Amino acid sequence: MKVAVFSTKAYDRQFLSAANSPTQHELVFFEPRLNRDTAILAAGFPAVCVFVHDQVDASTLELLASRGTRLVVLRCAGFNNVDLQAAADLGITVVRVPAYSPYGVAEHAVGLILSLNRKIHRAYNRVREGNFSIDGLLGFNLHERTVGIVGTGKIGLILGQIMKGFGCHLLAYDVYRNPELEALGGKYVELPELFANSDIISLHCPLIPETHHLINTEAIKQIKSGVMIINTSRGALIDTQAVIEGLKSGKIGYLGVDVYEQESELFFEDLSGEIIQDDIFQRLTTFPNVLITGHQAFFTAEALHNIAETTFANIADVEEGRPCANEIRAQPSA
Ligand code: NAD
Repeated sequence: MKVAVFSTKAYDRQFLSAANSPTQHELVFFEPRLNRDTAILAAGFPAVCVFVHDQVDASTLELLASRGTRLVVLRCAGFNNVDLQAAADLGITVVRVPAYSPYGVAEHAVGLILSLNRKIHRAYNRVREGNFSIDGLLGFNLHERTVGIVGTGKIGLILGQIMKGFGCHLLAYDVYRNPELEALGGKYVELPELFANSDIISLHCPLIPETHHLINTEAIKQIKSGVMIINTSRGALIDTQAVIEGLKSGKIGYLGVDVYEQESELFFEDLSGEIIQDDIFQRLTTFPNVLITGHQAFFTAEALHNIAETTFANIADVEEGRPCANEIRAQPSA
């Protein structure tokens, strides 16, 4: 199949090309993101392959459909950037990679926890400058601390398993209980109880209307003073302005994020020579107890390999008319 691959970096080309060698799809790599302005690049391609920051909204889908595209292949799990209803109405199939690096993401969350707690990011800079003072680098034992996990699917469960290994207590909130988390000793509670009793809160639920700004001013009133908040899920789970106020007051003791609400303007690009215009993001970077990574939690060799393999398996299913387990759909509107 002829596939227009958007938002490609060198690492995407490398892993997708390697996985494509037995299947020999005709891949054309485009660096720009897919949106209504770039959709023209996909004219005549039956399939487009996209990532987290491509804007697969109704107008983009209409342009794609009018030029022959029938398949949207996501190289990621989250699909909040796709208008599924519009795709269904236009007869466009949407497939995704539901799990490619649950260990990678959970391990990255643990990396943020350890770095923030023991101030490794600050120690790294000090030692390089010949400053061997340990003043200000005081941490706490994770042993016997309580970790509140919001969203106990694949990634949340693995985080629970790892933190259990540190001797932490586990609180959890989800719309469905995960028996594997309960088997670990995790206790499901309502969100206010999780907020009030957790030393570390880690977010692993999808971004949907119900979870938008889950961490907001109200939630910050309920949290333990000095809490550590970790978000490796989606930026808009956090009301960043409210969190900045929480950091300024000291109510939030630490913030570790791999995602940011307005990240599509920033992440995955080298902007080191430019003036960043996002004042909220810039304010976040000034706190010594804030650690930000640019949506790299998924970024392991295993994940890129799995993404590429699943992407081509999904395309093969659709091309050969088999039901695809990774298809996501909304009901066509009446
Ligand atoms: P998953 O589907 O296995 O788990 C998500 C869990 O969230 C499920 O148990 C679900 O029941 C729960 N949930 C749904 N609605 C909820 C609500 N209103 N409140 C609380 N929980 C709710 O997904 P996963 O593979 O564990 O991924 C979790 C999230 O991580 C994804 O949604 C994605 O946004 C994010 N992610 C980030 C990266 C990265 O690189 N930073 C990579 C992959 C995934």
